[in-house]
Amino acid sequence: MNDFPAGSVWLVGAGPGDAELLTRKAERLIAAASVIFYDALTGLDILELASPSARLVHVGKRSGRHSKDQGMIDQLIVRAALAGDRVVRLKGGDPSIFGRANEEIEACRAAGVAFRICPGVTAASAASASLGLSLTLRGLARKLVFVTAHHREGEGVKLDWQALADPEATLAVYMGKSAAPVLAASLIDAGLPAGTPVAMVENASLPSERIFRTRLDLLPLAAKTALGGGPALLLIGEALRAGAGVAQPEAVAVGKVIG
Ligand code: SAH
Repeated sequence: MNDFPAGSVWLVGAGPGDAELLTRKAERLIAAASVIFYDALTGLDILELASPSARLVHVGKRSGRHSKDQGMIDQLIVRAALAGDRVVRLKGGDPSIFGRANEEIEACRAAGVAFRICPGVTAASAASASLGLSLTLRGLARKLVFVTAHHREGEGVKLDWQALADPEATLAVYMGKSAAPVLAASLIDAGLPAGTPVAMVENASLPSERIFRTRLDLLPLAAKTALGGGPALLLIGEALRAGAGVAQPEAVAVGKVIG
């Protein structure tokens, strides 16, 4: 296969979990790899596409990964490539969105290892598909912001709240569960209406998917009481109002009583 010589690396987007949301290219690369480094969020049925002779190496922690761990992953990838492996680094969603792809790219570059990226379906796309709505609305939601609320322990969430509190924007918040109280309070402080619709999608695209709808001022309560241990995407903005009344058997409104 001329785009995957021995000694090279592909950073491959594994999508949000459902194996059918893999690209055909991803499927081919996974099948051709001699070693696959995968994250905690990678579905097991995706790994079943690997060759029986491939080494499957789990390198993920769900959250709170330290940069030291990331450095070790970089080294493992580079060493495997230098040893002549066909390396697939499988990353949840799209590798280029909050996936720490850059560290791995830089490590490959520094070692003179050839690398390429295969895009994947990012969590925000899977979540909006599950909600059955569009993240952009003509004239109403003209801007789509992918933002992470991830922060180092002991440090606050450092975001430009004024810029984010744009009533014409849809915010797709990655790793936002624990920061939900700060997110809601800061956005409201910066002028976003308290009644701005919010959707939370946990385990998007997987059989265990759960959808919750709420509003910005009730988001902290909703995130705390409704969400389980799975990865969850928070979507905030007027675009989320669309379809709220449409039958979605699995959609649960949180905070309706006081909302
Ligand atoms: N590269 C990934 C994002 C990695 S950051 C992508 O493009 O999707 C990890 C965060 O992504 C999680 O904390 C969660 O906010 C989100 N996420 C990943 N998979 C998800 C899923 N199946 N459902 C909901 N959110 C998901």
